[in-house]
Amino acid sequence: MTRRVLILGGTGEARRLASALVDEGADVVSSLAGRVADPLLPPGEVRVGGFGGAAGLAAWLRAHSVQSLVDATHPFAATMTASAAAAAAETGVSLLRLQRPGWSARPGDDWRWVDSLAGAAAAVAGFDSVFLTTGRLGLGAFAGLAARCVVRSVDPPSPPLPERTTVLLARGPFTVPDELALMREHGIDVVVTKDSGGAMTAAKLTAARELRLPVVLVRRPPVPPGVPTVATVEEALAWVRSQAG
Ligand code: NAP
Repeated sequence: MTRRVLILGGTGEARRLASALVDEGADVVSSLAGRVADPLLPPGEVRVGGFGGAAGLAAWLRAHSVQSLVDATHPFAATMTASAAAAAAETGVSLLRLQRPGWSARPGDDWRWVDSLAGAAAAVAGFDSVFLTTGRLGLGAFAGLAARCVVRSVDPPSPPLPERTTVLLARGPFTVPDELALMREHGIDVVVTKDSGGAMTAAKLTAARELRLPVVLVRRPPVPPGVPTVATVEEALAWVRSQAG
């Protein structure tokens, strides 16, 4: 019997997993939060919007007879990840966390780790021109900065923002030459990012290294204890297949 799989998405990995499972003829539904105005949709069935916390997700899993749940949300989507763990524990649905590895520093990097966006704002005080690539949500943490700030996000950010902000709307992947040109054009002297990992947005780290710029990185929230975790789509695919067997 085909097992129904729910993928909690919003990442390239979630789209690739959905695509592979659809190709295999699996019964798969992808779930998106609905935050991005024009999201890249995965193939197959898609539902959009929050579930209403862990209890809402548990009810959804039961109502739709889901047997396997893959939490392939972004490494910083901590609320959804906690809800997935709680709902799986409550319902007995098998849960896998698919989370790409974080980035690793290379020789020549000047990386400064912080625990939060507020910590990142404190770390860039004293710089003149800050490249903020942490996404459009949570930018209020930087609102008190007097520096020039370049904010890059997929959709327009909402206030409060730093007083001297230039917004660039763009969706990755980004190339090293483009990142170098952007940083030079805006006279950037520090880059701020979450430790999102992956290749799509890693070019800024290479560009910062080449320009000898410091990078402030926000550490990832922890994965809930006891949840099996894999780093690649291939491993997640193998897990789903093993569940079906
Ligand atoms: P979050 O703080 O963990 O989620 C907030 C709420 O949004 C959740 O409690 C849940 O609402 C709903 N939600 C989140 N992901 C969902 C999904 N895949 N399907 C249905 N509902 C979902 O997450 P976030 O940081 O706001 O991220 C939202 C989405 O954007 C995630 O799907 C994530 O994969 C993607 N994303 C996030 C980042 C980032 O930096 N955080 C970057 C790129 C993509 P209910 O409690 O009502 O269920």
